[in-house]
Amino acid sequence: MVVYLVGAGPGDPELITLKAVKALERAEVVIYDRLANEEILEHAPNAKKIYVGKKAGEHYKTQAEINQILVDEAKKHEIVVRLKGGDPFVFGRGGEEVLALNEEGLNVEFIPGVTSAIGVPTTLGLPVTHRGVATSFTVVTGHEDPTKGEKQVKWDYTADTVIVLMGIGQIEENTREMMKYRDPKTPVCVIESGTTPQEKIITGTLDNISKKDITPPALLVIGKVVDVYKEMKSN
Ligand code: SAH
Repeated sequence: MVVYLVGAGPGDPELITLKAVKALERAEVVIYDRLANEEILEHAPNAKKIYVGKKAGEHYKTQAEINQILVDEAKKHEIVVRLKGGDPFVFGRGGEEVLALNEEGLNVEFIPGVTSAIGVPTTLGLPVTHRGVATSFTVVTGHEDPTKGEKQVKWDYTADTVIVLMGIGQIEENTREMMKYRDPKTPVCVIESGTTPQEKIITGTLDNISKKDITPPALLVIGKVVDVYKEMKSN
């Protein structure tokens, strides 16, 4: 018995690894969240498919319920795939699921995915590091768990490039905080539904990006690399 914790990539169904496709082909059960592209499930034509993601306006499963489904399915089947967008360990709560499976003595193997944090900008040709411009990047959530006591996200990051996931709902507060530590004219690129046909690119600066019309899923890339991207595009 094995549960493969698999990354589905950022959206484009071709941005999945060969190893993930092979695991899907062998799977008896696929447990998945909302995927940018359900075409990926076609690699598992014979598997039972269990959707555990959010549905608009409906109750969705808690993490504890999802963990329980995983444990139950793993006990009944030889090959289970737990499929998650991007990489399961980048804001994917993959670790919590692994711990729940471990507690029951169930075997888990890991197949990484192209995370949206990097793959969405780099698919455009937007570099996250660039010689002489950016030697480091930080990936941070823009929506920290509101039930947490003390905030861990303080927006005082020193990396040259900051990439914000889940950052649209609180874009105004977050950019205001960031401007305490960074030039308000720092360039920003927002990418909506990256690597999919719905992809939309919005550029601005820290002091005006929150006024733009943005629809999630989207991520923000903040830093001078955005100017490098603009320069590449203009040639
Ligand atoms: N595990 C995932 C991230 C899950 S958090 C990964 O590695 O990519 C979900 C957030 O990821 C969204 O709120 C958004 O900020 C970002 N995201 C995921 N897919 C995206 C896409 N195609 N385009 C832009 N942002 C995306």
